[in-house]
Amino acid sequence: MVTLLLSLVIIYQGERYEIPEVSGYVNVADLQEVIGFSTRWDREKKFLYIKKNMELKLMPDNTFFEAGKEVYQLSKPMKLIEGKLMLHRETLPELLSLLTGEEFFEKGGTIYAGRNVNVLGVDIEEKKGVTKVKIKIKGNLRFYYEGKDTLWKLTIFDAVPTPGMVLIPKGFVKKVKMEEKENYILFTFVIKDGNKDVDVRKDKDAIIFEVKEREKREIKTIVIDAGHGGKDPGAIGPSGLKEKYVTLDVAKKLAAILKRKGFNIIMTRTDDTFIPLKERTRIADEARADLFISIHCNAVPKRKKKEVKKGVEVYFLSAAKTDWERAVEARENSSIEFEKTNSVPVPELEYILWDLAQNIFLEESSELAIAIQEELCKTTGLYNRGVKQANFYVLRLNYMPAVLVEIGFISNPHEEKLLKSSSFREKIAEGIARGIERFVREYEKKY
Ligand SMILES: [Zn+2]
Repeated sequence: MVTLLLSLVIIYQGERYEIPEVSGYVNVADLQEVIGFSTRWDREKKFLYIKKNMELKLMPDNTFFEAGKEVYQLSKPMKLIEGKLMLHRETLPELLSLLTGEEFFEKGGTIYAGRNVNVLGVDIEEKKGVTKVKIKIKGNLRFYYEGKDTLWKLTIFDAVPTPGMVLIPKGFVKKVKMEEKENYILFTFVIKDGNKDVDVRKDKDAIIFEVKEREKREIKTIVIDAGHGGKDPGAIGPSGLKEKYVTLDVAKKLAAILKRKGFNIIMTRTDDTFIPLKERTRIADEARADLFISIHCNAVPKRKKKEVKKGVEVYFLSAAKTDWERAVEARENSSIEFEKTNSVPVPELEYILWDLAQNIFLEESSELAIAIQEELCKTTGLYNRGVKQANFYVLRLNYMPAVLVEIGFISNPHEEKLLKSSSFREKIAEGIARGIERFVREYEKKY
């Protein structure tokens, strides 16, 4: 008899192990050191009990075994060779998956585990001028995409693909490539012609990358976000005027004007309630709105109370640049302090992703900001402080052009007085509406 002396490689929880293998069989004791389970050998009955997440009961030379209360069958039975209990390598993925509750699989002679496979497969289908790449996933995986013209990239985080996935280009997808990185996978798509519409979205158990003939793009749905509310008053003016009150009224007036013009309006709040920043962005993303307008009043920081500032600023997203932009950013983001209940620190990577997710819309956001800034100053006569960039929480995560309008300084006694007047707030709403309309006209000409 020829015995082959080899070793079996197991990748478990990121570590690489080599255990001796004899004619395809490995010693249970060697496996135990790698996986860390407990064993009990009933000499009389010849039962081997192995326990980790679940208990398995095996017998030498018997292909049937029990896991929990279920009976399973192995392709090759456990053997008792020279006093050692041995399992065949072929049976390990099934046995170890049941034992640990993790997914083990074999690829090129190596056994992998430690992380569950959560990308199950990719289908590319073509139907009536729409090419749909369906990436079937398990659970809720975060993804991010960017691209232009013919080249698009889709990153799926914490993804573990099924080994040996096949990708066959079809329809508008001319080439497709998948790369496995440490904790993400990257798909690269090459699209036929540069004049297609690409949409990436999460469906029930799939991430869909869809390519179709470019449609005429229209702006229909606008989210209006009245800053602050409820227990978060926002900035407070010298005579006691609260930002949350002014922003809500301007938001309502703006909504009324835009509704008359035929837009579909969604408001993040319509009364004096506290809405966490995360919830505001969720509302916008879920509505798949076309524009997001957040309304706020400006104020100088408390320690610089003597400083008098005036005028209008419109912001779009970026990492803050000047000290002033940073100060405004800190103040508007401070609403998070009111969200103590779920204030989980956000890792650095997430911030970067949010920035990147917005990249596609940065150019449009900046055009929207300029249009609102100019029209608002023209309509109200307020001082034009220019368009600025800051890293506002509420502007992240929105897959649409998004701006934050600082409609004037509530800390400035003169502007506080103006903000107190309902007719002036009507003017502000009109100015913002004009800016939006101007942007929409220019935008729809492009598509
Ligand atoms: Zn504010």
